[in-house]
Formats: sequence, C-alpha cells, structure tokens
Amino acid sequence: MPGASLVLTVDVEEWFHVCGHPVYDVPERWESFPSRVVPSTGRILELLERTSSHATFFVLGWVARRYPDLVRRIAEGGHEVACHGDLHRRANTMTEQEFRADVRAAKASLEEAGGTRVTAYRAPEWSLRSTSSPHLSTLVEEGFRVDSSLLAVPPIGEPGNPRVPTVLSTSAGDLLEVPPLVGTLFGWPAMLGGGWTSRFSREARVTAAVEAALSRGESPVLYLHPWEVDEEHPSMELSPIARLVHFGARGRVVPRLSRLLARHRSVSLAEAFPAGCVHREVAA
Ligand SMILES: [Zn+2]
Repeated sequence: MPGASLVLTVDVEEWFHVCGHPVYDVPERWESFPSRVVPSTGRILELLERTSSHATFFVLGWVARRYPDLVRRIAEGGHEVACHGDLHRRANTMTEQEFRADVRAAKASLEEAGGTRVTAYRAPEWSLRSTSSPHLSTLVEEGFRVDSSLLAVPPIGEPGNPRVPTVLSTSAGDLLEVPPLVGTLFGWPAMLGGGWTSRFSREARVTAAVEAALSRGESPVLYLHPWEVDEEHPSMELSPIARLVHFGARGRVVPRLSRLLARHRSVSLAEAFPAGCVHREVAA
C-alpha cells in the first residue's frame, strides 16, 4: 500500500448551478447567464501547475459539451476527469432510469471531450445521502469504479456513512467510496474538506485535520468549486443564509490552498487509489 497523500477534488460547475433554486435551477435559462467556469477553473489549474499538484475534476456533462477545450486542458495537465452528473440534478430526486440517463449522458460527453475514460462520480450536493442508495449499483453498471458522494454529516448525509475510503459491495459489484475530510466543530461532525464550514473554520483546525489524517495513513480529501475562487463572480439572488453559504469567507480559499499545496503536493483520486488499493474494506 502506498503512503497517504493529500487528495484535491474540484466540482466543475457554473456559479448558477444551485440545486432547487427557483431562478437558477432551470436549465433552459442557463445560456442567458454570464459564463465564468472557464476562467475560474483556469485559476485553479494555474495554482496546481505552480505547485506540481494534481486533482480530480468532477465536471458536469453540460459544461463538457459547451467547453470541451476546458476538459481537454484538465486531462492534458495530468489531472483526472470525473463526472458530476449531467445537469446538476440531485441524485436522490431522480428515478433509477433518470439517474442512469443522467450519468450516461455526462460520461459520454466527458469522455468525448477529454479523451480519457471516466470512472469516478460525485453527486451534486452529496445527494446520494446513504450507502443504501440504489444509485450506487447503477454507477457500477455504468462503468464507475469510485464514488465520492457520501458525507457522514447530518442532515446532508447519515452519521453511519464511511469517513475513510471504503469498498461498498453493491448488487452490481464493488464501488470504492471516498468521502471528503470530516472533523468536529463544537463536538459535532463537520465538513472540513471544503464548503462554507471549512471556509469559516480556523485555518489551523483544517490544517491539523489534514495532518492527522496523513499521519494515520488516510488520504484526506479536500474539495472546492471554481466559483469559490472567481474574482469576478456575478451578483446573485440568494436568501441571507444561502448568501452566507455561497459567498462567506470565499477570500480565504486561494491563500489557504496555496499554503497547503506548498507543504503537500496534491494528487488525484486515481493516483491516490489505483485500482484495487484502499486503506480499509468493509461491506455496505
Ligand atoms: Zn455541484
């Protein structure tokens, strides 16, 4: 088993891909919003290049069809191209047929654009929710080897979801579940791998959780979105809480990530978990 590594993941979507929002969650309107995904993803790619780091980029099929050059640039940078679904629909709101059609369309668009095989999936908003999701076996049937969609933090996920990379035995075969870094805040489980709870946490707390995972031989998985690093992010119609979740402490993302990558070069999920290699195995 190789040593543990810092794993970086990026959910490549536009700033307006907000599940359930009455204004933004309407695919027919997406062409009318200013696109920011190419320059903001480019900022992340440049940061990775400066630190000789790699990442897994979970890209929407919709983005791949509009900007195939971006997907090609990701692949040519030595990064892993992975799947964030096609139209950023929550997985747990789709029937089995709808979910299969969504991931199949996205995978085809991503493989055509990037020229690489796509075998890792992350649901929008961690929306597989639980190891009992029937969509996990659909992922195996559709050619996926790795999922990174389960969070052990209620109410978004179940407390019993894996906190370390774990092989789930589905009816269609094994699927490696790789969750994001989870720690504790005020005694409660909290996402430290990314998102607003990580941005609002003290940097020392996040860094300590990363170092502790590495010292245990567990690869900590961090995540971010291109819109979190966009210095020309358009204004949005959001409730005060949603505004805090989306915009709060965004200015910390790039400086913190730069300092972390200067200490630990990051790798992709494919590099951290070559086929058949995990830290711990349990049945789902
Ligand atoms: Zn997303």
